[in-house]
Order: sequence, then structure tokens, then C-alpha cells
Amino acid sequence: MSRLKKLGEELLELVFPPVCEVCGSPGREVICARCRQEFELVTPPYCRRCGKPLSASASPDMICGECRQQSPRFDAARAVGLHTATLREAVIKFKFNRRQRLAEPLSELLAECVDAEISNPAGLPWAHLTGVVPVVLHPSRRGWRGFDQAVLLSRRLSALVDLPCLEQVLIRKKNTAPQIGLSPTQRRQNLQGAFEVSDKQATAGGSFLLIDDVYTTGSTLNAAARVLRRAGAQSLYALTITRAVPSYHPQLGRRLGDENDRA
Ligand SMILES: [Zn+2]
Ligand SMILES: [Zn+2]
Repeated sequence: MSRLKKLGEELLELVFPPVCEVCGSPGREVICARCRQEFELVTPPYCRRCGKPLSASASPDMICGECRQQSPRFDAARAVGLHTATLREAVIKFKFNRRQRLAEPLSELLAECVDAEISNPAGLPWAHLTGVVPVVLHPSRRGWRGFDQAVLLSRRLSALVDLPCLEQVLIRKKNTAPQIGLSPTQRRQNLQGAFEVSDKQATAGGSFLLIDDVYTTGSTLNAAARVLRRAGAQSLYALTITRAVPSYHPQLGRRLGDENDRA
């Protein structure tokens, strides 16, 4: 770094001291150690298919009732943590408050998740992935927000895990109404015809990791997986930062308030 640039950065830090993007406490870490400690990570046992956390007595190869009733179109979904506490704050601030610096630590968390699956002999076959596919926003929403959170996460993740980022493959055709407050059936209807695949040659026979910020009911990821599957994708996995959980959650042992509302 040139001396002038370094001096410029030091001056900038004097005027705007660096803070944790989640809690605002002073420090150089984008997410401070205290905020990280409060993450509620997803730990086994969870549903082998959709990754839904289950109560401690569940067997590690259990498939949840919802997945047994209607099998998702992706092979499996995983999330770094629950949509609670500071991890939820981080996702919300990244997305709604446009704190783009958060893309870096959040994609590092995704990369750790990928590495953990690869190094686990009973894990998902993520060593054979052929690409990372962001679950993109509709262009009008991206324009309004100024960026697409799934694309930012996917770009950084693809560099960290050394996989191509296929950000042009999936297209959001329909600007769907926000999913908040909709029932699972309404969510499915809302997403009908929402996605399209632009490049079937790029998808045929591939094994892809779909990236989104939050797994709420899985309907968005399912809709994306459906079109990719039709376009010839062989294996489809989903990975999100957080996973919204029902109001009572066995791994938390407490009732959640409105923590899922803004998912
Ligand atoms: Zn903090
Ligand atoms: Zn499940």
C-alpha cells in the first residue's frame, strides 16, 4: 500500500473510527467477537434433507415430517445458524441497512460450512460441486436496494471455495410480492413462474450450490431448484446464512417473539 493511501486511511479512521457493523461497538472487526459469540449456530441433529434443526433425541439421519410429506426439489439444504440474535441482526443490517462490509464475514461463514461438509465423511458431497448459483433478486428490487445480497455472498464464497460463480444462470422473471406473512401455499403460488434459467448448457449435468441469505419456508429455494432441475441440473444444494425457526424451537428451549417476521 502506498504511504499516501495508508495516511488517507488513517485519517479516515480518525474521523470515522471503525465499528462492529452489527452492534456498533468500536473495533476493527466487521463483526466483533461478542456478537459472534451470540450466534446461535445450527447443530446436529437436523433434518437430513432440509436442514431443519430437530430436538436432541432425533437420530442424525432423520427426515422431518414436512420433507416426508413433500420432498423438496433440492437434494439438501443447510444453514450456518438460526435466524435469531446477532446473526439475524447481521443479515438484516446487510440487507436492509446496506452494510455491504458484512458480505465478507458472512460469506466466510458460508465457506466454513462448505469446508465442514467436505471434511465430514458423512457430509454432503460438496467436494463434487461444479458451481455456486445465487438466488438472485428481481432487477427492479436490486435497483432499489443498490445491490443483490445473494450475488455479493456468492461471489465471495466462490473465491473462498474455488468454484465458479454462475450469477447469470438463474433469472428472476417476476417481481414477486414480499413473502412476509404468507402461508406456505400462498408462498408457492406467489413464486410460480418467478425464475427462469438463461443458460441450459451451463446447467446440464451440473451439481450446484444455491446461495440465499435466509431460509424461511424453503419455498424460494424450492422454486429456484425446480427450474434448475428442469434445465438439467443433476444435484442441487442450498446454503443460507440463517434458518428461520418456528416460534418454539427445541434447540433453543425458549419461545421466539417476532424474530422471524422480517425474514
Ligand atoms: Zn458487535
Ligand atoms: Zn426436512
